[in-house]
Amino acid sequence: VSFAKITAADLAYFATVLAPARVLTDAEHVARCARDETEDFCHPPEVVLQPVSAEEISAILRYCNTRKISVTPRGAGTGLSGGALALHGGVSLDTRRMNRILHLDERNFQVTAEPGVITQELQEAVREKGLFYPPDPASKGSSFIGGNVSENSGGPKALKYGVVKDYVLSLEAVLPSGEIISTGAATLKNSTGYNLTQLLVGSEGTLAVITKITLRLIPAVPHDLTLLVPFRSAAEACEAVNAIFLAGIAPSALEFMERDAIEWAARYTSTAVDLPQDIAAHLLIELDGPEMERLYGEAEKVADALARFDVGEILFADTADQKAALWNLRRKVGEAVKSHSAYKEIDTVVPRAELPVLLQKVKAIGARHGFRSVCYGHAGDGNLHVNIIKDAMSAGDWITRLPHGVHELFTEVIALGGTLSGEHGIGVVARDYMHLAFAPAALDVMRGIKAVFDPNGILNPGKIFPQEKAAS
Ligand SMILES: Cc1cc2nc3c(=O)[nH]c(=O)nc-3n(C[C@H](O)[C@H](O)[C@H](O)COP(=O)(O)OP(=O)(O)OC[C@H]3O[C@@H](n4cnc5c(N)ncnc54)[C@H](O)[C@@H]3O)c2cc1C
Repeated sequence: VSFAKITAADLAYFATVLAPARVLTDAEHVARCARDETEDFCHPPEVVLQPVSAEEISAILRYCNTRKISVTPRGAGTGLSGGALALHGGVSLDTRRMNRILHLDERNFQVTAEPGVITQELQEAVREKGLFYPPDPASKGSSFIGGNVSENSGGPKALKYGVVKDYVLSLEAVLPSGEIISTGAATLKNSTGYNLTQLLVGSEGTLAVITKITLRLIPAVPHDLTLLVPFRSAAEACEAVNAIFLAGIAPSALEFMERDAIEWAARYTSTAVDLPQDIAAHLLIELDGPEMERLYGEAEKVADALARFDVGEILFADTADQKAALWNLRRKVGEAVKSHSAYKEIDTVVPRAELPVLLQKVKAIGARHGFRSVCYGHAGDGNLHVNIIKDAMSAGDWITRLPHGVHELFTEVIALGGTLSGEHGIGVVARDYMHLAFAPAALDVMRGIKAVFDPNGILNPGKIFPQEKAAS
């Protein structure tokens, strides 16, 4: 696939569609949009465009489609699969100025927002009205709701409340042709035609640019408490995950952190954590509900269910400060790993009861291929983020042996009934493994869908599908 390079005439056209101050070619904006949070990848766009409306996006896409200029939609750039990287240069379509909450419909428990609203700001706005939007990626303080929809993001609360797809009722989106479409409806039930809403959710900016999002909300849950449980064996921590559910408890979050993960996060955030030498892993468990007394009862049941495992002293956190400190540690693990060493993150997900086997396979593959890994993630969902740390590997092994290790790991994940990504998306990082998860016929159906939306392939090229290669 070849794309047109952007010319002075193209820039002049963009400046007639957008205010010239929103057509950006300066080094600072280009450098910002050259990266997201995926490893050390860097792919500079030729221009950054900052539209403020669906109409402006429509004009940009119509023009780029005719000129065969590649367009990469961009949210906050917190993605971990390289989705917002402009692999073929062209336009980085930066949605940060489309950041209004358009309508908070308290009567119907719904909110409609533009894609550039920061996730946490949307959560806080609905919370003020006693409402709750649960999906809470650890990046919620900076990620955009449009990016969350495009990746079908999760987060700790996905365990009890579901992921983004479970909240999206309708979308407005601009097709690469420039047509503006609406999908779904502002209703809780909908059996009307193909479900284009859910097709766009998680489509990683490859089918259309999302310009308006209507989400369903639920009543706020008033109480929660958090438990931090240290384990002397990481394998037992994984086994304990299922034991908690089998004891009849449905936590609102259940996170796993290997020792290195919590130790590095504590150092990174300058948080004092009591971490005895014999502790190999932690589970961070959140319980929520309408009555505090009931939560204390559930916490006791959790402790009972864990009694048969080799655990250290359980820390109960029920004040706002204690809970915030524990969750801050968990949220900072990713950044802490990144600051420690070059790394590769693999977003594995398996049926929950298979988690102990997955951890064991990860370590065995690491031993075979000479890499060290730090694992953490949403254990209650069977979603383990495997961070392969470069420091133990030579540059040569990193380039040649690592892909074999990753291939083996994904093969094991599929064999366990899992898949390539639980919440970070395929983007660039997992596209070459898609054939492990899907038969050729299924991949062909996906390619056919892409061709219907985007016959010229201008929208976010190089993502999801294995055969496309990056230009640079
Ligand atoms: C520290 C950290 C913690 C994280 N924790 C979690 C977690 O707990 N759970 C989780 O699921 N993820 C997590 N992530 C990953 C990331 O934050 C999510 O994938 C998030 O949804 C990306 O949002 P964004 O606005 O940054 O999107 P970007 O990274 O800018 O873009 C992501 C994708 O969406 C597309 N896109 C963006 N906006 C639009 C639009 N309007 N229309 C069409 N396509 C669009 C882009 O083309 C790209 O393919 C974490 C990331 C970091 C750095």
